[in-house]
Amino acid sequence: AHLDRIAAVDERVHAFLHVDTEGALAAARDVDARRANGEELGPLAGVPVAVKDVLATKGVPTTAASKILQGWRPPYDATIVERLRAAGTVMLGKTNMDEFAMGSSTEYSAYGPTNNPWDLGRIPGGSGGGSAAAIAAYEAPLAIGTDTGGSIRQPGAVTGTVGAKPTYGGTSRYGLIAFSSSLDTPGPCARTVHDAALLHSVIAGHDPRDSTSIPQPVPDVVAAARLGATGDLTGVRIGLVTEFNGEGAEPGVMAAYRDSIEALTKLGAEVVEISCPHFQYALPAYYLIAPSECSSNLARFDGVRFGLRTGDDGKHSLEEVMSLTREAGFGPEVKRRIILGTYALSSGYYDAYYGQAQKVRTLITRDFTTAFEQVDVLVSPTTPFVAFPFGSRTGDPYQMYLADLFTIPTNLYGGPAISVPCGLSEGLPVGLQIMAPTMADDRMYRVAAALE
Ligand code: GLN
Repeated sequence: AHLDRIAAVDERVHAFLHVDTEGALAAARDVDARRANGEELGPLAGVPVAVKDVLATKGVPTTAASKILQGWRPPYDATIVERLRAAGTVMLGKTNMDEFAMGSSTEYSAYGPTNNPWDLGRIPGGSGGGSAAAIAAYEAPLAIGTDTGGSIRQPGAVTGTVGAKPTYGGTSRYGLIAFSSSLDTPGPCARTVHDAALLHSVIAGHDPRDSTSIPQPVPDVVAAARLGATGDLTGVRIGLVTEFNGEGAEPGVMAAYRDSIEALTKLGAEVVEISCPHFQYALPAYYLIAPSECSSNLARFDGVRFGLRTGDDGKHSLEEVMSLTREAGFGPEVKRRIILGTYALSSGYYDAYYGQAQKVRTLITRDFTTAFEQVDVLVSPTTPFVAFPFGSRTGDPYQMYLADLFTIPTNLYGGPAISVPCGLSEGLPVGLQIMAPTMADDRMYRVAAALE
């Protein structure tokens, strides 16, 4: 049914870069056979899942929406994908995204943007716009995204779906094409909080193949979502970030946000204001740290090891082949970030830029730990604006970067955060963000589920 739905609507939505029809049917048949055999199957057995094209899938094209990886078929599965298969889910295919997960609109995909199912002339968010749009358009009930600065939560917010960024290190990065290794976090996209929790529970947990994976048991997010669904938040303390006072945000977004605060109060939560004075420096710190790590990570795309190779005609030197490949293979946003990061890391500038950004990161982390001594979770709008029309923010990179104003602090800290639909502004969805302490992913699911 989902493959039929994809065939019917994806020409207009363009959520998928690759639909693995054969693989999906084979996986579904396999689940049927196991069921007929009387085997015990997990809670997601037979459920279709779409996977962001930044995760390696064995034998299935994986491009990170870049020309430089066109035609690459990984020889192995990412741990997340392996766990999805082990759980009996059926992978439908690979979803569109901004190239190498750099962007907030999918307009930087080398294969053309994804259209928001709510209004095809508007962006579905990014970088994981394909995963969120696939869910919003009923092409898939579940999807995997990755969140470096907001790429699960912001697409969730602008498509009226649920997107959760787990604790950094709570989900494995093995087989995830690296953008910014200290921030990249795979996580679930779904239509309900409970569905997101189920998917979270299947993919999370320690992975010895990822050195930053946390060797601790995952909190029971499914039980937390069930508890939240009772609608009782008595005793839960919720913090509103003083500095997120609406500056730079659309009035309609702030109105929906205020309504959801009122709803939380009615459910019994205690709401207080908490100052996080360093959050205002999160965006500039992120745009030094993430490009710095990207400039190092993307050095591996040199025309030798993977995908595209340009100028290998006997007339060019090895170095020329590498630069011609990178010139042809990388899009403008990726090049901008590599240049920015290389500059920030160069000797003479390192202390002034990269070093300074790392200090700011520590201060932001302290803001979070101080806040969580007083409250259980922090809330804010997920993104300052609703889905914007194509082309309206591509002219000025800074305008695009603003989309992650509210989501980036969490990434710098490493804690979990979820975006849950909280109403409409001008007929378009608005998301509420709920942020929790590291390894307390269950708390955000409880609060999010109470709002559904
Ligand atoms: N929009 C942010 C960026 O462009 C975040 C991207 C992400 O989370 N992958 O870097």
